[in-house]
Amino acid sequence: MINYRNLLDDLGAVKKGHFELTSGLHSEYYIEKFRLLEKPEISTLFCKDIADHFNNENIETVAGPTTGGIIIAYDVANYIKKRAIYAEKVDGKRVFRRDFKITKGERILVVDDILTTGGSIVETAQSAEEKGGIIVGLAVFINRSSESIRLPYPLYSVYSIDIEKYAKEDCPLCRRNIPLTIPGSKNL
Ligand SMILES: [Zn+2]
Repeated sequence: MINYRNLLDDLGAVKKGHFELTSGLHSEYYIEKFRLLEKPEISTLFCKDIADHFNNENIETVAGPTTGGIIIAYDVANYIKKRAIYAEKVDGKRVFRRDFKITKGERILVVDDILTTGGSIVETAQSAEEKGGIIVGLAVFINRSSESIRLPYPLYSVYSIDIEKYAKEDCPLCRRNIPLTIPGSKNL
């Protein structure tokens, strides 16, 4: 058994501090997914786990949203020897550009790096569904949505971590005047 938490800790992917998340909530911890994605020999272990999990599901295509989802879809698809397609954000919506085709009834697995609100992975799945695909499931490297969010598709998480989040008004870190960091970009 692979100890995924140890791998993340060794990479320094779990940051401690005072962070404002995409949701606007504050947290003491932040997962910097690119500490993992910049190490292909480690992130490929997560991809192999996903590929193994869906081994008997007759997946025909693996889809992922930009940015991290591209890397993961590519690698998972490589393990199962199938196709990978990528959804980009256009006018706030995930769409398949680049003339990616989906045939009616095509069995699709949608992958992404970290599940927080589920926004981009669900949008990608819905976009594939609109094109006629069947969403077999969603898979993520890390599930950090502590309050289990309701997703319209079955979810597989390689690793789950429960990270406490606070509204600004109730944030104990704000109260202690710990400098706030807003990581990453909301536009990708
Ligand atoms: Zn705070």
